[in-house]
Amino acid sequence: MPETVTLLIEPAPADARDLDVAGTLRDVDATAPALRVGELSTQRGDGIFETIGVVDGHAQEAGPHLARLRNSALICELPEPNLDQWQAAIDTAVARLPQRGEFAIKLVLSRGVEHGPAPTAWLHAVPAADFSGVRERGVAVVTLDRGYAHDAAERAPWLLLGAKTLSYATNMAALREAHRRGADDTIFVSSDGYVMEGPTSSVILRHGDVYSTPAPSGAILHGTTQQSLFEHLESTGRATEYRDIPISELSTADAIWLVSSVRLAAGVTSLDGAPVAYDAAETRGFNDYLLSPRD
Ligand code: PLP
Repeated sequence: MPETVTLLIEPAPADARDLDVAGTLRDVDATAPALRVGELSTQRGDGIFETIGVVDGHAQEAGPHLARLRNSALICELPEPNLDQWQAAIDTAVARLPQRGEFAIKLVLSRGVEHGPAPTAWLHAVPAADFSGVRERGVAVVTLDRGYAHDAAERAPWLLLGAKTLSYATNMAALREAHRRGADDTIFVSSDGYVMEGPTSSVILRHGDVYSTPAPSGAILHGTTQQSLFEHLESTGRATEYRDIPISELSTADAIWLVSSVRLAAGVTSLDGAPVAYDAAETRGFNDYLLSPRD
């Protein structure tokens, strides 16, 4: 079975009826050129994406990822995606991948080539990196200033906060800065003193037996993994809350996690050089749940 699958997708209108989906998907060789040089995704990072974890032949939370793809498209004023078509592309890729092991499916919807006529879209599925060590060991984290207030999304909607856009150069720069400071990852904080998110993850805190995460104000991405974990915690009788979390609460937390679709839950072991209580057993429990089939 192939370990990678790459499909170019001819985006169909959201309201297309009786779509021959198979006819809109074209297999391409991921090592051969497939995009035109005028692509706005490459020239300006003008497009959106999703990364979906695949575990033992099951695409995790495909519905919530597609709902967020649609929301990102609306924020970025891209044509609304036809979710049945994207779901069919995911199903096609998953059916071709080995049915054991972890994979990552990236979906991309770009504004296309300058002056049209249509957006460009593709799916690329690859084996996931081995995160078993980091899931067990946890991550050292530094806080970094995001450079805007936690309510920036309302005042400056053109920042496209809340959309998962392809413009991740600043997120990658923040990770490099974290590495320079001797850490594995970072938690962004707002200029007015609130906890936001990681560059590729959501933040969850536990104080006593209450789990909290920053309110999805629009300035951060609403994480599918965090939402799934909160549903799981609630269904097992635990208390969860969305709220504005002042930075000072990071140092009073009993545990902190960074959660995302492919790495899953990584416990924070230190914050800005100070040790953080690390709950290995609870982190293992989170990852056992996150590795189980989820829709
Ligand atoms: N926040 C940001 C900025 C991200 O890039 C990601 C994922 O890449 C997340 C949060 C976590 O989202 P999810 O759990 O849907 O992977």
